[in-house]
Amino acid sequence: MSVLWREKMSIQEYWTGPIVDQHIHLDRENRYLGAIEDFVISGGSGIMLVHKPDFHSRLPLTTEEYKKEYENTIRMGKEIRSKFKIDVGIVLGPHPVVWEKQSKSIGLAKSSELHLEAIKLALDYIENDQAHCLGEVGRPHYSVSTDIWDQANEILLETFSLAKSAGTSVQLHVEENGEKTCEELSKLCSLANFPKEMAIRHFSPPNISQNFNHGLSSTINMGKNSILGICETIQHSKSMWGMETDFLDDDMRPGAVLGPKTIPKRTQEFYSELVTRDFDEDKINEILLNVHCNWPNQLYGLDFDSNQERR
Ligand SMILES: [Zn+2]
Repeated sequence: MSVLWREKMSIQEYWTGPIVDQHIHLDRENRYLGAIEDFVISGGSGIMLVHKPDFHSRLPLTTEEYKKEYENTIRMGKEIRSKFKIDVGIVLGPHPVVWEKQSKSIGLAKSSELHLEAIKLALDYIENDQAHCLGEVGRPHYSVSTDIWDQANEILLETFSLAKSAGTSVQLHVEENGEKTCEELSKLCSLANFPKEMAIRHFSPPNISQNFNHGLSSTINMGKNSILGICETIQHSKSMWGMETDFLDDDMRPGAVLGPKTIPKRTQEFYSELVTRDFDEDKINEILLNVHCNWPNQLYGLDFDSNQERR
């Protein structure tokens, strides 16, 4: 038996530390607690619960309606914490797609005004420690008119300024245009004097290199090829990154996104892949503790537990 082989054998067969899904939506009318049960049974220990806009019925037209939705998300967080004893952070903010859709019915000026009010309201909850991140905010992921696009960028710039005053991180819903998207967002952060590492690109492709993310943080949507992408770019990574499903809990769109068991499963696959690639045990622990504990704590001001042993 070679020395190397023996060393590999001494490493635990699977990851027993914390596992956090940084972007998950839940709906009382759909799977809700059942989805969290799946996550916990698979080894999950913490989530960032993101406010879910109700695209199927009427979109909110007043800040009062936003307030109701935000408070519902906060209440769900409390229910999950008490039932499953896992760590839950709350992400509140108006969705950019809601803003774009509403601009068609109530006009761009009115929808923009409401959008900024909803952002300020979310920041109030964050400043009161009832929520831990602003999101998902950003710009539409599909092509829109120049007017809409310019306005989206103006709102985003203002959003970064407001988030800076509140001292919070921001989860960003943006278009998929590779590195160029990150470069533009990074410029907006500079213009608003917002710390880039507190800008988190949500639904990020699995590229964590500095050349790609321009200093932004990211939560990677952990589809099938994500682990390969992470492993190929990890040597060139300098920023914080995490894992997410973007689970929608929407029975009208089954299979549209990854299921709640995905992050525990991918974390184990990632662990095995790092062992296979000859990362030593200390390095593996460092990487996984950063991803599932230290970085989320830094980004969201939370206390995700590093000693979680759940099996
Ligand atoms: Zn989302």
